[in-house]
Amino acid sequence: MTRNVAIFGATGSIGSSALDVVARHPQRLRASVLAAGRNVEALVALCVRHRPDHAVIADEAGHAALRAGLRASGLDTKAHAGVAALDALAADPDACDTVVAAIVGAAGLDSTLAAIRSGKRVLLANKESLVLAGTLMMQAAREAGATVVPIDSEHNAIHQCLPPDGGCRGVRRIVLTASGGPFRGRTRESLADVTPAQAVAHPKWSMGPKISVDSATLMNKGLELIEAHHLFAMPSSRLDVLVHPQSLVHSLVEFIDGSTLAQLGLPDMRTALAVGLGSPERIASGVAGLDLLQHGRLDFEAPDLRAFPCLQLARDALEAGGTAPAVLNAANEVAVSAFLQGRMRFLAIPALVEHTLAALPAVPAESLDVLRATDARARELAGLAIETGAVR
Ligand code: NDP
Repeated sequence: MTRNVAIFGATGSIGSSALDVVARHPQRLRASVLAAGRNVEALVALCVRHRPDHAVIADEAGHAALRAGLRASGLDTKAHAGVAALDALAADPDACDTVVAAIVGAAGLDSTLAAIRSGKRVLLANKESLVLAGTLMMQAAREAGATVVPIDSEHNAIHQCLPPDGGCRGVRRIVLTASGGPFRGRTRESLADVTPAQAVAHPKWSMGPKISVDSATLMNKGLELIEAHHLFAMPSSRLDVLVHPQSLVHSLVEFIDGSTLAQLGLPDMRTALAVGLGSPERIASGVAGLDLLQHGRLDFEAPDLRAFPCLQLARDALEAGGTAPAVLNAANEVAVSAFLQGRMRFLAIPALVEHTLAALPAVPAESLDVLRATDARARELAGLAIETGAVR
């Protein structure tokens, strides 16, 4: 049976990798819904190529242009706009059975939750939603019988190393690998004047700008610690991080009998997406096999927490629990956006996150409303700290 796949964040880096895998398997997979944030032109171009039933632009102002673009291209694809349309299509059983959640940032939370609550198969790239509301999301998945397949390469690697039911019986610890980003080996002092262009130039992965900056600060690995905690029900004390500059070992699972299983492959997100899109079968992804002789060596080192304090801030937020991860995520999104716009320096990213966490101590995260209010308040405080120069 053909899987109807909705791709939220279709115009982004993960969206484009997902569409590449889908297009390789016309008998098995079809892109039935494509959604983007604001870029109508890129969305229409994808619709011309993939002919989905529905196209959604989250920004309502893009509705008329999307409708006109689809009509001018002679397509039957229905044009929708706004977040409510996104959530409705995520939940609609006729529109899709599988959702690739690849919107960047907390903006992906509602559509991901809508897909989970309607029991869909959710291929989760949008790690920020899990950091913000992981406990509630995983509980909703259990209640609705939704399948959540991690797409982040590290979590997808762990998913592949665990038994098919995803249980962590017999697991002693999980080790997330990190490339170390473009500034690996640099001292904290030498990072004072790095530019956005330098920060997004990742040595191994080609990704969108936000996650590229997160990789440069190591906040990405911090968000991934919190993500792993929710996906695999592991406490912080059994989650480790190891820097592995070649980015060939995507993560490791150590069992109580002394075995360590790892998943290896070239750094290309199509592998993880093919695992999620094809499961339980293995399907071709377009990624070449790994020639270890050509690569020669695999190196590992401890992360430098002085140069990259975001990793420790994230671990502290995970251990504090409650609303702390939501504050961490919101402050980081504000900080990364300001850095990319040239309004803040690189080292101000951890400073702003720390400042916001101190201003909003953790309280229990009882409901989505509490988490949404915390997210909004953290964004407000972080924005204010930039405006007033309290953090620079
Ligand atoms: P990109 O910046 O490349 O793409 C982001 C996508 O989200 C675009 O399609 C964009 O649309 C859409 N979008 C942005 N804001 C909104 C909004 N408010 N509502 C609806 N859609 C929106 O990001 P990536 O593909 O790199 O990352 C996507 C997610 O996947 C992130 O959470 C990231 O952490 C995660 N991830 C990414 C990896 C990668 O290799 N890239 C690896 C592992 C995880 P538009 O083009 O119109 O702005």
